[in-house]
Amino acid sequence: MASIRELHEQLIKKERSAVEITQEALDRIQALEPKLHSFLYVTTQQALEQARAVDAKIAAGEEIGILAGIPIGIKDNMCTKGIPTTCASEILKNFVPPYESTVTQKLVDSGAVMVGKTNLDEFAMGGSTENSAYHTTANPWDLSRVPGGSSGGSAAAVAADECVVAIGSDTGGSIRQPASFCGVVGMKPTYGLVSRYGLVAFASSLDQIGPFGRSVEDSAILLNAIAGHDPKDSTSLKVPIPNYAASLKPDLRARGRLRIGVIKETFGEGLDSVVEQTVTTAIDQLQSLGAEIHIISCPRFRYGVPSYYIIAPSEASANLARYDGVKYGYRAPGTDNLLSMYTRTRATGFGTEVKRRIMIGTYALSAGYYDAYYLKAQKVRTLIKQDFEKAFEQVDVLACPTVPTTAFKAGEKNTDPLSMYLLDLMTIPVNLAGLPGLSVPCGFDDNGLPIGLQLIGKVLREDQLFQVAYAYEQSTTWHLRQPQIS
Ligand code: GLN
Repeated sequence: MASIRELHEQLIKKERSAVEITQEALDRIQALEPKLHSFLYVTTQQALEQARAVDAKIAAGEEIGILAGIPIGIKDNMCTKGIPTTCASEILKNFVPPYESTVTQKLVDSGAVMVGKTNLDEFAMGGSTENSAYHTTANPWDLSRVPGGSSGGSAAAVAADECVVAIGSDTGGSIRQPASFCGVVGMKPTYGLVSRYGLVAFASSLDQIGPFGRSVEDSAILLNAIAGHDPKDSTSLKVPIPNYAASLKPDLRARGRLRIGVIKETFGEGLDSVVEQTVTTAIDQLQSLGAEIHIISCPRFRYGVPSYYIIAPSEASANLARYDGVKYGYRAPGTDNLLSMYTRTRATGFGTEVKRRIMIGTYALSAGYYDAYYLKAQKVRTLIKQDFEKAFEQVDVLACPTVPTTAFKAGEKNTDPLSMYLLDLMTIPVNLAGLPGLSVPCGFDDNGLPIGLQLIGKVLREDQLFQVAYAYEQSTTWHLRQPQIS
């Protein structure tokens, strides 16, 4: 499918209707889903209705917004009124939200056409989308491999052209990591830029919603549509939102001096050599485009994974206490008292990884261990933040690989959760510090699997990240390659 801007042009020139564009996405979904499984729920009827509404506006001579009539996928941990929202969990199997999340409401208002709810690791816990209670999603570049996670359905759907753009959520890397594995652009905004109202909470101090696109421009347009203050989210920031897409320029020099810091601790041991080479070449390319390259040290970066895997499960254990079989969602049948109803519901409704996190989190928060684990992890979080603050005194943007490897085979890491957790090494510190981070395609390995370059920005400098990523993208051809799905 074409880009948002191209489709918008076609719509306003009446070369194509929104219904035709939507039907093209739905046809592709129907053809590819038996192989890919990117979606948990396809909203065929609603999508066509939304598209017809856009066509009616065009026919009436009304102006339409840039996203009107554009097919979009929504990660299934965002509440959509009247449409099932399962978080890929058994425990929310029958849950149909009575309200709309702020992000999806904004998208509805913009005229975007939701084609379906995309697959994820249960409650966004994981890095491969294999933790979904319903099905696993395949990587469009190699169907035997994972798309990454937890927003693997959104990333795969965009890479495979089942929709033009998609929405994901990122607690420790869940937008950037699958973007890297699937060869698309993925952005985690500054904490508080996008409202979390209606996003099913995993770890509230880390969760952030963000866009996926096949290009930097598409992602920038989508972020503009979902960013902004929301009184329904007490952590939502009250700040002006720049027009990200309008400020994109292929010439990096046009915006003045730009200093990019390469985080030295992200190179070396544990990093696949092909990822190292590819990312190094991408950084050389940024230099040739006019950026000054500096080597920067973030010595506490490597403590991100251990502190995150205390903080995130702790918050999750509190957030997931609400699933008890009483208020909504699944209730285990055949129990004869309240306590066994609670325990049976939670024992059978949650999957292994979710239960593991609830147990770790409950342990870390318990009276005797709170100081040793949770409090210490929070202190480490502050140190990591300070590393970034120091780095940003010297440079404008930081660069490193998004993930140390390319996509792995399905099933390869299922029995070893720690090896899965380690893949988050380079994305987690960004969430701990609340900063914006973006993954942009920067090459392929010998098996034809995509590799991502991660750019990390100062608080609320999404504009800078998009600008750097755009200049890079426009000087390369990686984003033009498409997976051949057979
Ligand atoms: N892979 C990380 C985890 O399992 C990150 C998940 C996320 O960002 N939602 O916690």
